[in-house]
Amino acid sequence: MSKPQPDLLSPRQILDALVRFPTVSRDTNLPMVDWVEAYLASHGIAAHRQWHADRTKAALFAHSGPWEAGGVVVSGHTDVVPVAGQVWTSDPWEVTERDGRLYGRGTCDMKGFDALAIWALVEAHRRGVARPLQLALSYDEEIGCTGAPPMIAAMAQVLPKAGAALIGEPSGMRVVTGHKGGTGIAVHVRGFEVHSSLLPQGVSAIMEAARLIGWANDRNAEARARVPSPVAALFDPPFTTFHVGTISGGTANNITAADCRFLMEFRNVPGESAESWHSLFVAEVDRLRSAMQAVRPEAGIDLSPFFTVPALVPEPEGAAETLARRLTGDNGHHVVSYGTEAGQFQDAGYSAVVCGPGDIAQAHQADEYLEVSEFAAGHAFMERLLAELGA
Ligand SMILES: [Zn+2]
Repeated sequence: MSKPQPDLLSPRQILDALVRFPTVSRDTNLPMVDWVEAYLASHGIAAHRQWHADRTKAALFAHSGPWEAGGVVVSGHTDVVPVAGQVWTSDPWEVTERDGRLYGRGTCDMKGFDALAIWALVEAHRRGVARPLQLALSYDEEIGCTGAPPMIAAMAQVLPKAGAALIGEPSGMRVVTGHKGGTGIAVHVRGFEVHSSLLPQGVSAIMEAARLIGWANDRNAEARARVPSPVAALFDPPFTTFHVGTISGGTANNITAADCRFLMEFRNVPGESAESWHSLFVAEVDRLRSAMQAVRPEAGIDLSPFFTVPALVPEPEGAAETLARRLTGDNGHHVVSYGTEAGQFQDAGYSAVVCGPGDIAQAHQADEYLEVSEFAAGHAFMERLLAELGA
């Protein structure tokens, strides 16, 4: 008696299954990970998990083809942004096809690519590739790309190292070779309360925070006035930017504020080190803290970093760029101003580019969709990748 054949799903069927898992970043992704793991196992592919510290989430990675280094890894994230507060025409947790579009949360960002990558990994195994293909699915991308670094570290322990990483964030199947880095720092300025009529005897956390924000404005103005480097010139805007997105503090108009909290982020262009920008900011904080403590030793400034995403530095003639250009025929120069896990793969020693179906403008929106034609282009891309790997 012959063994029953495992179900072989199309990319579209895999996408349908993935979208049904409401893998919002703050919630578990384990049902989706279980499903992918079981599907791969049904085709004889053993996947590996890298658990989040609290074991409510996991990354999944797997390998098809000869057990050797130098293959290609296709990577996406499992998490999606929430739908709360958004008005959807159809169920966000069900793929609905209408007007040549696949509507559903994550179809564009980025379960469409995940589905194609899972499909390709199974095909690589079934057809037999001469060079390996690897799949890597992370968690917590949408809350600061915090899931990919431990996943990449675990991959280094378990799998032969791939030579090129293709991160399928929506790029309209264009080859994106660079993106800015990002660093977020939570700043807590601690002042000293006195009646505002006695201003010099107190320390207003708000007014001191304003100095740091003013410092950030000055850096933006300086950067804008400088002639950008050739790499920076690819970006819009062509310089590193500082931004404060939220601020709170103070209790009354006539009390110097005891507390002011704000979130400072900066987005550095490739070629400018995030560490040196960070040190500049810390030096300014140290200077200001001393001045505050000269008035009131109780005053202070506390910094807690909350995200860091390394820039993706273009690698002309790099393995990933060369491969992605050959597969897409795209020879243009494209960079994006949002961060992705590609910079983290590159940081870990992979040649990396971003290339995936869909338009980033659809990401995170109500009625998020992926054009059917984009999904088909992604499918054709995977077919060419399989051929490239000798399937
Ligand atoms: Zn994404």
